[in-house]
Amino acid sequence: MKIYVTRKIPEAGIKKLKDKGYEIDINPEDKVLSKKELIKALKKKPYDAVLCLLTDKIDGEIFGSVPSAKIFANYAVGFDNINLKDAKEKNVVITNTPGVLTETVAEHAFTLMLSIAHRIAEADKFTKDGKYKGWGPMLLLGNDLSHKTLGIIGLGRIGSRVAYHAVKGFDMKVFYYDVNRNEDFEKELQALYKSNVEDVLKESDFISIHVPLLDSTRHLINKERLNMMKPTAYLINTSRGPIIDEKALVEALENKTIKGAALDVFENEPELASGLAKLDNVILTPHIASATEETRSKMAEMTAENIIAVLSGQTPPNIVK
Ligand code: NAD
Repeated sequence: MKIYVTRKIPEAGIKKLKDKGYEIDINPEDKVLSKKELIKALKKKPYDAVLCLLTDKIDGEIFGSVPSAKIFANYAVGFDNINLKDAKEKNVVITNTPGVLTETVAEHAFTLMLSIAHRIAEADKFTKDGKYKGWGPMLLLGNDLSHKTLGIIGLGRIGSRVAYHAVKGFDMKVFYYDVNRNEDFEKELQALYKSNVEDVLKESDFISIHVPLLDSTRHLINKERLNMMKPTAYLINTSRGPIIDEKALVEALENKTIKGAALDVFENEPELASGLAKLDNVILTPHIASATEETRSKMAEMTAENIIAVLSGQTPPNIVK
């Protein structure tokens, strides 16, 4: 069996595939392949499986360049980079890596929330720049998380873990909006369901986004909805960039329509909307919410297990439908 891997991933996953005796070809350069480069690489051999990443845009043309491939195993829980309709038409199985990154991404969302409220990035720069001349009663005042309200948009695996930290660790009150209501969760964490996103935006001190990128969630946070937020509120996004209209967010941050934002994902990665990087009331991380050694190894193993299952004629554990 021949496997193509579009970019180097942790060895744990590669080892699992090698242990099966598969022949593995890995893109030798540590960079995203353009569509043309990917097609060229895939045409080299009749690959049985492709291990791809969220930065690879996979569509009918890509499937067509490697008709021997039975599975494209995405090394991510989100799969908005893959055209599922084209996959179905070409009879290609698509898999993802749900669950193993939940705790890590929730930790990152919380890190962002704490960091923006306590002005950690500004304070770090201030201190390293030699500007700290002694304790001051008004120096870099931030805001508390404890006892505030947190609005979760998308209460799935990651959203509910963030809510858990908020309630158990910081006595926060949780509101949430999701297309599916979860009454067990509401009882467990005394959380309040809101039937529309606007009510969450209006009432929360912190808002954390955890919906997948779909047609229904693209620009879910737009100018109009940013205007509904409290001027003291903070917006956190660790889901996918296009869920926020980034230009409208820059305007809202510049005009102090909202107090701050902390983002791990961007509308046109790796580019940033004009003006975003100049703002003090925003913290930016380069799409690293799942990037811990432990989690990336587990994701690599899970991706390999999905490939092995399909190539052994079984249903993979994490099939995307
Ligand atoms: P999940 O499927 O468990 O949760 C998503 C939730 O969103 C579900 O409860 C679903 O009902 C809800 N939802 C779907 N459409 C909605 C809509 N239109 N309005 C409101 N709610 C809606 O997924 P998860 O494992 O919690 O991951 C969430 C997302 O986080 C992923 O899709 C991925 O894009 C993103 N993610 C980002 C990183 C990163 O590195 N920054 C890492 C992992 C996941």
